[in-house]
Amino acid sequence: MNTSRDRARELDARDPLRAFRQQFLFPADETGEPLIYLCGNSLGLEPRRTREIVDEELDRWARLGVEGHFEGAAPWFSYHEVLAEPVARIVGATADEVVVMNSLTTNLHLLMVSFYRPTPQRHRIAIEAGAFPSDRYAVASQARFHGYDPDEAVVELAPRDGEVTLRTEDVCDWLERHGEDVALLLFGGVNYYSGQAHDMERITAAAHEAGGTVGFDLAHAAGNLRLRLHDWDVDFAAWCTYKYLNSGPGGVGGAFVHERFADDPELPRFAGWWGNAPDTRFEMPERFAAQRGAAGWQLSNAPILAMAAHRAAVEIFDRAGMDAVREKSLALTEYLLGLLDEIDSDRLEVITPSDPAARGSQLSIRVAHGGRELFAALRDDGVIGDFREPDVIRIAAAPLYNGFEDVWRFWNVLRENELRR
Ligand SMILES: *Cc1c(COP(=O)(O)O)cnc(C)c1O
Repeated sequence: MNTSRDRARELDARDPLRAFRQQFLFPADETGEPLIYLCGNSLGLEPRRTREIVDEELDRWARLGVEGHFEGAAPWFSYHEVLAEPVARIVGATADEVVVMNSLTTNLHLLMVSFYRPTPQRHRIAIEAGAFPSDRYAVASQARFHGYDPDEAVVELAPRDGEVTLRTEDVCDWLERHGEDVALLLFGGVNYYSGQAHDMERITAAAHEAGGTVGFDLAHAAGNLRLRLHDWDVDFAAWCTYKYLNSGPGGVGGAFVHERFADDPELPRFAGWWGNAPDTRFEMPERFAAQRGAAGWQLSNAPILAMAAHRAAVEIFDRAGMDAVREKSLALTEYLLGLLDEIDSDRLEVITPSDPAARGSQLSIRVAHGGRELFAALRDDGVIGDFREPDVIRIAAAPLYNGFEDVWRFWNVLRENELRR
């Protein structure tokens, strides 16, 4: 393998998404040198356009006051509608199937109100072992809310002994054998810890076959993988927008509800005025009449400043296209894996699956000993990644703003650290 810096520069020169890098703001060290930012799986970088588009809304507020709700090209009253099409393209859905609202964990709860409908015979929730804590708390509290003991109702599907990631066939087998009492399967699209991308299509089919509903937490998948939520027949999904979607800290969340449920008034849900059909919303009807599709799950009027930041980010995805983003992501991770192979170390091991279809932009590097110290040393040398207890360094090259030279710089710092030991 050619491990020279020039090789990385060559790859960058040939990258069709290269120009997008200029549209983002990079944190820099005291000398002004851009940091090696490989943390888009945790907090994506700020697009240059974000400030401008947020300023436009501040300006409209100053000029129009309350009339901003109905005036201009994107009035606040229907601001979420402007986002529906481009967001639908990112997650592989129709515009009716997505809505931008609230935040991730809130949306998971709201959707579980509708899609976790336990009965004594079928009340269990299947999740992946090692799911993100917020998701575990959310499902446990939903089980408890319905009167079940979470220790019994929540089942964690674990990898085989000695393996780090779940095999799809084991998930499907398990559903076939034990799925009769599973009301809901809730998985991450990409596991936040291992970086494993699940085969959402096969898992959805197996869970449906077993008679359950299926939801995905796409925190680490939206803006990362090529998703086809509609075609895969997923029942519901939720995601945050501050990771790969670059929409700012605590940014507004997203939700997907399959078309099959678009006009189902019987589906229980927690309602609020913003989910009411827009033509009667301001008549303040006595009875709630849900708007068609995912938008019918909205509760409150939209947080416009956060929505504006999301809009700036989504416009960039629309110009680049998810296919190109995914293609470059695959090339970046493959490049990094090749470089890592060239480091002679007795303690580093990539635990993310080697099958390209089973990973996104993140590689999780297990450090057998001294992981914390290594991570601190990398930070001192300008690398921004993150460390997850007990022993994993997560590195993600985000295709819209990271290039091959970023990956090379990270690798070089890591290599020098290992050589010095
Ligand atoms: C980032 C992340 C969250 C964070 O939830 P918020 O409600 O946005 O704070 C939840 N679940 C997963 C899997 C995540 O990766």
